[in-house]
Amino acid sequence: MSDPEIEHERDAIIRVTSCAICGSDLHLFHNYIPAMMPGDIMGHETMGEVVEVGSGVNGKLKKGDRIVVPFTIICGECEQCRRGNFSVCETTNRNRHLAEKVFGHTTAGLFGYTHLTGGYPGGQADYLRVPFADATHIKVPDSLTDEQALFLSDIFPTGWQAAAQCDIEPDDTVAVWGCGPVGQMAIRSAILLGAKQVIAIDRIPERLAMAEAGGAITINFDSESVVGRLNELTDNKGPEKCIDCVGFESHVSMAQPDSVLDRAKQMFMLENDRPHALREIIYACRPGGIVSIPGVYSGFSDMVPMGALMNKGLTIRTGQTHVNRWTDELVRRIEDGQIDPSFVITHTVPLAQGPEMYRAFRDKQDSCVKVVLKP
Ligand SMILES: [Zn+2]
Ligand SMILES: [Zn+2]
Repeated sequence: MSDPEIEHERDAIIRVTSCAICGSDLHLFHNYIPAMMPGDIMGHETMGEVVEVGSGVNGKLKKGDRIVVPFTIICGECEQCRRGNFSVCETTNRNRHLAEKVFGHTTAGLFGYTHLTGGYPGGQADYLRVPFADATHIKVPDSLTDEQALFLSDIFPTGWQAAAQCDIEPDDTVAVWGCGPVGQMAIRSAILLGAKQVIAIDRIPERLAMAEAGGAITINFDSESVVGRLNELTDNKGPEKCIDCVGFESHVSMAQPDSVLDRAKQMFMLENDRPHALREIIYACRPGGIVSIPGVYSGFSDMVPMGALMNKGLTIRTGQTHVNRWTDELVRRIEDGQIDPSFVITHTVPLAQGPEMYRAFRDKQDSCVKVVLKP
């Protein structure tokens, strides 16, 4: 791989100082997201030091600035960007014809995330070209370490947006399916936003322990009935707000026959997704409640219970994260000491160990919850 160069006037180049592996990288690693090609560079949680700036960046960045790079590439000028809907920026996906075919309309360009979203090289590298860099960056205050700031790129605003989209009220119970890194951020965000109780659902003991340390009541779905426990904890009413941090690769087990059927359909390419968690959420959620979906879905999901969804009057909120919509508030909360997102890191290793760490993260070996790579 040769180092990136300035290609357009709004580009900047950064020397990467820290980057991370995200759960959604695993969807690519498992080859469930179409349009990856050999040689593509992964990674969309990246920060570093600006080493070169294009002439169109107009003083917004200069050499030596320390920036976090949001995973969504934004122009800052189109109608969606002006509304703060950054993840559906209308201009940064240079393969918009592909996205329009698959989704009906284009979405933003994303770093290291398939040719459907622009095929931009990712940041698990020594250097990264940041397109539209005058808009696509977060300046890092000197007071924050790399580890405190890095997750402003994705998982922190993703968990935050998931909780914010629940419109949390003080007597709400918020249930979070999936205690991976985004789930952990959603749990802490729901608590910061004032939920009465937060319930976290997973099966990996170290993830459940981390959720508990963050203030959640936990349910291990391997040994307990999720719906039964949720009803118990809510006077049989069900949680008002439910967050799906699992996405389309729900754990497959014989105890969940629907997930086994989904896996079989996936193998025969009859269905893209395994939406077991989403089905359970729609069933468990209290009538009138909100279902917030930060988890990634790829295409078509079968047997989503529309009857329950409609008759219970649920509201569904979704979306890739509008990262920059939340930046100022989240930087302030980190600086104030309300949250230190580095709590989620379990492994910090040199970039060259990336491939092994993808396996450790996938297989949840060695209590791996979140990996930071250092070029
Ligand atoms: Zn991600
Ligand atoms: Zn835009």
